[in-house]
Amino acid sequence: MPKVLPITTYGRDILRKVAKPIKDININIVNLVENMFYTMKAAEGIGLAAPQVNEGISLAVIDISTLNDYKNEKPLVIINPKIIDTNGQSLVNEGCLSIPEVRGDVKRPEEILLEYIDLNGKENKREFFGLLARVLQHEIDHLKGKLFIDYLSEEDLEKNKELLKKIKSNKIVTEYPIYNSKSKP
Ligand code: ZN
Repeated sequence: MPKVLPITTYGRDILRKVAKPIKDININIVNLVENMFYTMKAAEGIGLAAPQVNEGISLAVIDISTLNDYKNEKPLVIINPKIIDTNGQSLVNEGCLSIPEVRGDVKRPEEILLEYIDLNGKENKREFFGLLARVLQHEIDHLKGKLFIDYLSEEDLEKNKELLKKIKSNKIVTEYPIYNSKSKP
């Protein structure tokens, strides 16, 4: 049975580390992917990167099919992803399960050309547009130790300052389980 994993929140070191490439897609990875999908759905997220469940490896899951306009989009598992080209630019409001309640506009390329390995170990090279490209870039940032708040304007950061402080000191209440930053997982 898949289980809900606690989510690491802003302030924890793992969210700022570069994730390690995956060399072998073994049963542990397969199980982790299953648990990550389960955890993401329970938290009503559309993307989740391994460092967000305290695993410093280059892996993320995405499923935007829960959103009304994207019902036909298949779930994605990306391993060792690498963006090799980008095009366009758009400003979209983002949030993150690791930074509860914080929102802000982030400028990102509108299209990406992505190389990644899927759960079957197959190498893929695919173009993504729109929301899927957006979510992918957000998750791939997680694998580089980067967070969406790094892109926020001074004004947006100032607006969220108190909330960020609260998250860092673990004084937040979430609808989903999170790691207590004061105790070891
Ligand atoms: Zn995130």
